[in-house]
Amino acid sequence: MLPVIALVGRPNVGKSTLFNYLTRSREALVADYPGLTRDRQYGRVKRGQRDCLVVDTGGIADDADGIDSFAKKQVQVALEEADVVFFIVDAREGLNASDQSIAENLRRLDKPVVLVVNKIDGVDANAAVADFYALALGEPYKVAATHGRGVFELLAHVDELLPMTEADETEVDAGIGIAIVGRPNVGKSTLVNRLLGEERVVVFDEPGTTRDSIYIPFERNGQKFTLIDTAGMRRRSKIALTVEKFSVIKSLQAIEKANVVIYLIDAAEGVTDQDAHLLGLVLEAGRALIIGLNKWDGLGVDQKDLIKRQLDIKLSFVDFAQKHPISALHGSGVGKLFDVVHELYDAAMIDMSTPVLTNLLKDAVTTHQPPLVNGRRIKLKYAHQGGRNPPVVVIHGTQTDALPGSYKRFLMNYFRDRLGLKGTPIRLEFKSPV
Ligand code: GDP
Ligand code: GDP
Repeated sequence: MLPVIALVGRPNVGKSTLFNYLTRSREALVADYPGLTRDRQYGRVKRGQRDCLVVDTGGIADDADGIDSFAKKQVQVALEEADVVFFIVDAREGLNASDQSIAENLRRLDKPVVLVVNKIDGVDANAAVADFYALALGEPYKVAATHGRGVFELLAHVDELLPMTEADETEVDAGIGIAIVGRPNVGKSTLVNRLLGEERVVVFDEPGTTRDSIYIPFERNGQKFTLIDTAGMRRRSKIALTVEKFSVIKSLQAIEKANVVIYLIDAAEGVTDQDAHLLGLVLEAGRALIIGLNKWDGLGVDQKDLIKRQLDIKLSFVDFAQKHPISALHGSGVGKLFDVVHELYDAAMIDMSTPVLTNLLKDAVTTHQPPLVNGRRIKLKYAHQGGRNPPVVVIHGTQTDALPGSYKRFLMNYFRDRLGLKGTPIRLEFKSPV
């Protein structure tokens, strides 16, 4: 599981500024993919040792102020799901009553809380933090979120609080991991039941927190799969169990564990902003992607046209995804999904040799030259593989920092087409001598 950090604090202390600083890699991604917008609430922190998920509870609570926001269910859920809480206070304003009551609430959580004193730029940092010892939350971390000052130490502290365990490394042990993800009521549990059909399955229905998905290993035609069910499979007996809470964190953890994501959209409802945000996070995780247009049964011609247009306009940043109209309820289109999953898995796990990649790179550069920067042409010289799931292509050249997003997209599509890779994003990394 990726560790989850929740950002908590009064309005205006700098939560969203810190969130933006922590999730900068997403900023770059947004610039490279037209149509992709930033999610203000959930993001990913890229780090040396391991990635973390970060949740800005201020973004979730919206206009609610600090204390009231605790009452908001989504904030409660976010705090329940967090491994570490960053409690952010404002060095310039000093300690105030709202901080005190937030601290009170956090103590009851019984989780590691890190006191983060923000905006220490231009103030006497030691004097500024002195007040905050009164919160009895341990040693304050001094940061300036606008510049990123102190953030490295803050994240190093997270490593101390949550040491890596061996379990962090394990992926789904049995076969191809398939996560079924989507907003509430799009048909996830119906699809899980349909996919399992008559297969004999062993369901590990572990009672867990809201952020745990159910892992369902099974075999089909000799191939092992594990379904990662974020909805909670309905029991055969049809006795409704607990009503599952929709959890973005749970979805993100499932995406992380999966090789292939089946993202369901309710085709009758169309593509929502939340769909676009969640799909942005699938892209960021680099997973192979099938977009299931569910509830295709009973759609009129106009609705079908509309959803196709929406896919082009709102979801152009995941244009690599395989789109499949299905009916989880009636089963049409569902049988094919296994073959598609297999194909995407093979694409995501491909081995690419250095000569093949370097030749493709040369062809690409001949087809379409990289632009000039300050009168000198950007050179791309050779390429080798840097990872799988998603396939990573490391490209060596000169001035690669100046490559525009449009050229990167051209290269990605070129590699993908020529290698015949279906349904998986490709990640390009560039290296230039300094
Ligand atoms: P939020 O309501 O907690 O999400 O706070 P914001 O991130 O929106 O920040 C509120 C204001 O504080 C904005 O005007 C920020 O530019 C400013 N701010 C945030 N972090 C810093 C910092 O490290 N130093 C200074 N000087 N200002 C900051
Ligand atoms: P979840 O919350 O994403 O797990 O969604 P469910 O599987 O519980 O489905 C929500 C509702 O949509 C239920 O009433 C289903 O019967 C219905 N539903 C699911 N798939 C389909 C479909 O393919 N066509 C139609 N018409 N309804 C569906």
